[in-house]
Amino acid sequence: MRGIAVVAGLLLAALLAWQNGLGRLDAALYDFFSRLAPTAPSQDIVVVAIDESSLAKVGRWPWSRDQQIDLIERIAQQAPAALGLDLLLSEPSADASVDQRMAEAIRRSGNVVLPVFTAETAGRVQAMLPVPPLASAARALGHVSVEPDADGVVRSVFLREGTQERQWNHFALALLRVAGRPVADPLPGNRAPAAAEAAPGAWLRDFWMHIAYAGPAGTYRTIPAAQVLAGDLPDGALAGRIVLVGSTAAGLGDVYPTPLSARQRFTPGVEISANVIDNLMSGTARRIVEPWAGAVLTVLLVAVVLPTLWLFAPGWALAASVAGIGTAAGASGVLLLGQGVWWPPGAAVLALAAFYLAWNWRRLERAASYLVDELGRLKRHGAVLPGDAAAPAGDLIDRRIHDLARATGRLLDVQAFMSSVIESLPEAALAVAADGRILLANREAVRQFGEAAAEGRDMARLLAGFTLVSGGALSWPAAVAPGHFAECRDAAGRAFLFEYAQCAGQEAADTAWIATLVDINPLREAERKRDQALRFLSHDIRSPQGAILALLDLHRSDPTELPQEELLDRIRRYVLRTQALAESFVELARLATAPARDEPVDGADLVLDAADECWSLAQAKQIALGTHIPDHGVPLRGDRSQLTRALVNLIGNAIKYSPAGTRVDCRLDREGRWWRIAVRDQGRGIAAEDQARLFQEFSRVGAAAESGEPGFGLGLAFVKAVVERHGGRIECDSVVGQGSEFRLFLPATVNKPEPQAG
Ligand code: ADP
Repeated sequence: MRGIAVVAGLLLAALLAWQNGLGRLDAALYDFFSRLAPTAPSQDIVVVAIDESSLAKVGRWPWSRDQQIDLIERIAQQAPAALGLDLLLSEPSADASVDQRMAEAIRRSGNVVLPVFTAETAGRVQAMLPVPPLASAARALGHVSVEPDADGVVRSVFLREGTQERQWNHFALALLRVAGRPVADPLPGNRAPAAAEAAPGAWLRDFWMHIAYAGPAGTYRTIPAAQVLAGDLPDGALAGRIVLVGSTAAGLGDVYPTPLSARQRFTPGVEISANVIDNLMSGTARRIVEPWAGAVLTVLLVAVVLPTLWLFAPGWALAASVAGIGTAAGASGVLLLGQGVWWPPGAAVLALAAFYLAWNWRRLERAASYLVDELGRLKRHGAVLPGDAAAPAGDLIDRRIHDLARATGRLLDVQAFMSSVIESLPEAALAVAADGRILLANREAVRQFGEAAAEGRDMARLLAGFTLVSGGALSWPAAVAPGHFAECRDAAGRAFLFEYAQCAGQEAADTAWIATLVDINPLREAERKRDQALRFLSHDIRSPQGAILALLDLHRSDPTELPQEELLDRIRRYVLRTQALAESFVELARLATAPARDEPVDGADLVLDAADECWSLAQAKQIALGTHIPDHGVPLRGDRSQLTRALVNLIGNAIKYSPAGTRVDCRLDREGRWWRIAVRDQGRGIAAEDQARLFQEFSRVGAAAESGEPGFGLGLAFVKAVVERHGGRIECDSVVGQGSEFRLFLPATVNKPEPQAG
């Protein structure tokens, strides 16, 4: 489509250029350039003018032949180089002797050129020669026809005209030849197409020359004929010059508009001849560029500018088109004034303007139909069309743009609303494109999953570490049917409820997914605690009661089976056990609710107090209990009784889970900004796989779970809770069969000078 348009346009430009363009525009430009730089008039040319003043003095034209003879003789006395009489001499006078006398005068002068006029009758051009006696007396004849353009302005002449049988040089050329002035060979001007066989009598014209005018009428030196007749011609005014005699009075009709003629004063034919003579002498005659060359130039220029139309924005395309038009006009001016060759730029100008208009019309057309289509699409697919707010009256495109702008505004509002809805969801929510790219992730999603949930990341990547609780990996997007929940865990074991739904777009490619990942860790944690509490109730509290009941039943059925002393002792042990359990549990529960005290505590005191408390236990098991504490103060802040309880639990465990005859050591020292309390035993150790859940409530691991060691799996949970309350942490190192080391880290909050090592 574009190609066809371009080719058609270039062909049009070529054709217009071939036809020498658009008369008016080109003519106007030609005249404009001509006026810019008129040529200087030659002083070698003198016009003896039959002007208004001469008519006033001598009388109405035509003057008598005797007066004309007088004029010829007076001029001839001054010996001009050539004398051209641009007077109508084709009618014989009534008295033949007068013509004879005039012929004599002409012959005597010896350098007279007489005019051949042309008259057109019934479409045939006919030459009108001077009457035979005069014609034969003249040195040469020259035609004086001018070539007005369509607008009546005379810009050119043909240097040779006539029929096949007889041709005449232009009057100016004939004068130059008579005067013996050099004339360019070949003659300037455009050649007529070589006519193979001209019809007999057909009028032929050749050497079409455009005139570089020196100025408006009166530019060449002019002497009124009356002055010559009166004999007051300055001496040597005409000698050696080319003298033209002709009428310049407007009333005599031989005047024409020229590019340089003032509107009121046209240029007389005789002065046009003067200009032609001048051009021929100075070599400034102009010609028109060959049609083919003009066409090529035009097409080249247009072809250079054309691509800017579709490559550039309309503003630049306009600038380029205007520049192209300017270049065409400028180039033609430069060619005309510099080379004397006229390239009519009108075709290029018109082609560029037409292209620009057509192209922008097409653009506008497309934009308008796009707007209409788009509005239609919006109307079909949603209620986002602007309400009844009236579009401004005016241009159709403006109204459509206004509608579309409103519709787009609404869409953007809806989009902003949607994203703020997603953003404000309490759970992690992600919008995912059909290809799995994350389009949008809300704040919670970024908080939970960090960079992996950033816009543009791959959803499948984000879910890569997830496993379904029901088994299998959580693959994207097929793991779960849309609209269903699935519980899953990420690589770190965190529990989430995963759900997603499809948002169908207009096109398949617009389809997106909204996925949510609800963090259910608190829920699961609460569930676990509830389960443990239930287990605690069902087992750890119920079983001692069951045992007591069994003992009582046994005693009732056979009081001799168990001595009373023994029975009571056993019952007492069961009750104590239940009490201890209840106490530990309450202690732990209280920890979660009761506010911790914040008092200055000495770490060394803590260790010594706890060791004291455990001393009898160690004693009973023959375990050596050592303490290693720095000899300076160990300032801490916290709840003294909670911290002591925690240490007692650790030391107690060390004793409890170690065989008799081993050692337990408590060491307190500094590590960076921490106080470290390490409790080391030589007991049975804890398997690596059990170490992770040591600190969970009710978790008893290894043999302790089955062995008769009293305990409920609450001690370490308490330790951990206390340490974390104090901003510290707990670590455990253990090797099965060799022993364990539990390390408490408590922040050394009080800024005292660093204690000296040693
Ligand atoms: P318990 O009341 O059972 O001692 P804890 O929470 O204090 O409960 O300890 C949890 C489990 O950790 C114990 O049952 C035991 O299996 C193990 N454990 C704790 N301390 C030690 C230790 N020093 N050496 C070996 N095992 C230990």
